[in-house]
Amino acid sequence: MKFIPLFSGSSGNSSLCIAGDTKLLIDAGMTGKAITNALCEVGIQPQELSAIVITHDHIDHTRGAGIMSRRYGIPIYANSGTWEVMCSCIGEIAPRNTRLFRTGEDFYIGNVNILPFPTPHDAAEPVGFTIIHAGRKLLYMTDIGCVHEAMLEQGKDAGLAFVEANHDVNMLKNGPYPYHLKQRILSNRGHLSNENCGKLLIKLHGLGVRSAILAHLSHENNTPETAFRSVVTILESESINDMNICVANRSSVTGIFEL
Ligand SMILES: [Zn+2]
Ligand SMILES: [Zn+2]
Repeated sequence: MKFIPLFSGSSGNSSLCIAGDTKLLIDAGMTGKAITNALCEVGIQPQELSAIVITHDHIDHTRGAGIMSRRYGIPIYANSGTWEVMCSCIGEIAPRNTRLFRTGEDFYIGNVNILPFPTPHDAAEPVGFTIIHAGRKLLYMTDIGCVHEAMLEQGKDAGLAFVEANHDVNMLKNGPYPYHLKQRILSNRGHLSNENCGKLLIKLHGLGVRSAILAHLSHENNTPETAFRSVVTILESESINDMNICVANRSSVTGIFEL
């Protein structure tokens, strides 16, 4: 299985997962043109996509979903809560390309097993995913205000964890955002701080995870260096030195990760 973050950050999110013949786009939060260009850059034609799977209804995860589906005939998979909000933003989708999954129930696209599990975030029905193919597991978990035990369990033995390191708490508190937005981001249904991401990775390390990509960084309240340094410092405070950590790029392909 190959995992390729195309875009990641508060301005737009989309990743590609290639598992055998199945090619999944996870979220489509940039314009159709930007996503198409990024796919071509990694040698994939958009019409080759098997499906677009959506974590939640926020525009930084859905912006290009409608245009990609209409232009290339790609089915979109989301739960009912997400469809309810998203359908008014992404335009008309052909009924045959409107696919529903249930939160907490796994399903297959091709021979790839996908489990959408609930996450705490201020969207209609947000989920993270585990994506399993040929005994390999990817944990995809961004836009999470906090981490519950049940979410941690999903990460057990994942070959790669794509997890949120949204903000540095001091940068956020001292930054330009209005008070209500700061409170929203800091809340249990907002976004995960670098510090809490580090704590999450300590627990995932205990569950066998050895590779992680830090994702969904805030443009205003974080930098790749700050996120990396914060997380590594927290891991080292627990004497964890055997975890591969990298930071997803905001507006370009991060790389191709084999798992
Ligand atoms: Zn969100
Ligand atoms: Zn987001």
